[in-house]
Amino acid sequence: MILDHQTRKGTCVMAANYTIKDGAILCHACGLTSHNPNDVQNLFCGKCGKFHTKKKKYNHLFGLGFTVDSDNDGEAITADELLAAMERRVSYLRQHRGEILEACGFPEDTIENEE
Ligand SMILES: [Zn+2]
Repeated sequence: MILDHQTRKGTCVMAANYTIKDGAILCHACGLTSHNPNDVQNLFCGKCGKFHTKKKKYNHLFGLGFTVDSDNDGEAITADELLAAMERRVSYLRQHRGEILEACGFPEDTIENEE
């Protein structure tokens, strides 16, 4: 198991490298399982003498443009036409994977989630 060490507040902490199960915390670095509620709550490994850190999770909002060919005007586009157009766009991108990043661009918004 590879540890991703970071230095925070002068303390060497480990990136998410633990498992909490059945009220105990298992340290993947040393293999110690602690049932001490304080260790579990603080993500602490007494053998390593270090605190684990929660890995950050993010939620990114992307927009994907696509066109719709229709006999209807823009205000009368149906859900089926939109879905078919989206599926064509995704199908095209599956075949042209090199265009996916450009098609999606950068996230329009990003929020940080709790793990
Ligand atoms: Zn440990």
